[in-house]
Amino acid sequence: MDIEQFRKAGYQAIDRICDYYYSLQNRPVVPQVEPGYLRKHITATSLPEEGEDFQIIADDYQKFILPGLTHWQHPSFFAYFPTACTFEGMLGDLYASSATNPGFNWLASPACTELETIVIDWAADLLGLASEFKNDSGIGGGVFQTTASDSVLVVVAAARSLYLSRHPQAKIEELVIYTTTQTHSVGAKAGIVYGIKVRAIPVNMEDGLALRASALRKAIEEDEAAGLRPFILIASVGTTSSGAIDCIPEIREVVKDHPDLWVHIDAAWAGVALACPETRETMFLDDINAFANSFCTNFHKCYVVFQWGLVNFDCSALWVRNRRHLTDALDITPAYLRTKHGDEGKVIDYRNWHLGLGRRFRSLKVWFVLRSYGAEGFRKYIRECITHNNTFASLIRASNRLQLVTEPSFALTVFRLVPPSRSVPAVSPADSGVDLSAISSSGITSEYDLEALNDLNKDYMSRLAARSDIMLTQTTLNGIYCIRFAVGAARTKDEHVRRAWEVVEEEAEKALEAWNA
Ligand code: PLP
Repeated sequence: MDIEQFRKAGYQAIDRICDYYYSLQNRPVVPQVEPGYLRKHITATSLPEEGEDFQIIADDYQKFILPGLTHWQHPSFFAYFPTACTFEGMLGDLYASSATNPGFNWLASPACTELETIVIDWAADLLGLASEFKNDSGIGGGVFQTTASDSVLVVVAAARSLYLSRHPQAKIEELVIYTTTQTHSVGAKAGIVYGIKVRAIPVNMEDGLALRASALRKAIEEDEAAGLRPFILIASVGTTSSGAIDCIPEIREVVKDHPDLWVHIDAAWAGVALACPETRETMFLDDINAFANSFCTNFHKCYVVFQWGLVNFDCSALWVRNRRHLTDALDITPAYLRTKHGDEGKVIDYRNWHLGLGRRFRSLKVWFVLRSYGAEGFRKYIRECITHNNTFASLIRASNRLQLVTEPSFALTVFRLVPPSRSVPAVSPADSGVDLSAISSSGITSEYDLEALNDLNKDYMSRLAARSDIMLTQTTLNGIYCIRFAVGAARTKDEHVRRAWEVVEEEAEKALEAWNA
């Protein structure tokens, strides 16, 4: 393809993308295809020898690929954590790939490094992070990673290296990564990657599935008595299943007695809500600012969550209180990567702040999105998502057969179906007076067997999953099978939430009919 052919194909691509967005609302959210559908259309068993006309390839995208896409940008997508996507972000990606510029060193592309240091400092201010986390502190700093999982891999490497520098006699097999039973699988995956033990500390429904000091202290005491060395805790501010927030002030107290424990805050999903000052107390921002070693949130999300931050996948922001801990762990500088400015320590070489060498120019799309929305526009979008979720949660609260399993968290509601005649109020200490200590062991109500209720809800979920006009996903919370409703698609409006409610009600009716039959 030459430049003029690109111009033509590019205009056509933009036209088709605009048409796609105009038609999005009328498409099914979930594709109507069966496994193996694409093989029937792409019949060539190997790469053709002769190159093809690009128009044919572009048309095949429309004909064969689009019908097999799940439309995450559909306003009725309430599954996982939606990944919001904006036109500004798309254009940022387009410009970035036009320059295709793996800015691993400052010299590899000064603009890539410098824009990243500026934009991620803006983002730190937007979220209210302490100045110590900013690049302009000269000590801490921020870096865009691919995903929150990569951020965890980076901080585990840094924490391990810091711990071993303080305790050179420690053996790798003695090290332990702490998570909770609600932590995203990123913790377990880090254990696999580094060959390090992982301990998932149990959390209770009565504590809102949050990690408390007593459980953390107990785990540390037991492990230390067994000759093990907990060196990092991945604490969650907004878990994937229910949006639970670990009790950060209590963790802060525990860490005073165990200063070797690196605390990483995984706020992959909920962290961007810190842009709205009214969320900061709930998310324990003051404590995070006072002691956490690292903090991560996704500006894309996955969003299951949302990548709630309006930036197209991928874009995970990681901040550390001390950048030296990253570079001490990850800096390898062979001769071919040395530069004058790097040797003089005058510039950031981001290759030493992440796992790979080359890196995408992610800050460009963040810059486009943040400037175009402005801080106030960004907050408005987050608040709208929370409002939509509150609307949905209040409909659940008012229902005599649908029940909140945990309190709604920002843009996430977790609920389940309970037969009405014997249903109990929502599981909220404030609202229901239900004895929460009974929940984790025996289910929400003693009137129904937990297993029977779980079966009912699995049937209910399979009915919801069979719909193509809406998408929700399921989880289990301490043995309770539940359904998650997550808001975050940029085009979701009140009417979509209310339509989702109608669908949820309609399928509840059918599931109960089958249960009673
Ligand atoms: N942490 C939490 C709390 C999440 O919800 C998710 C994804 O939904 C992740 C981590 C992993 O995110 P990523 O896909 O960016 O690795």
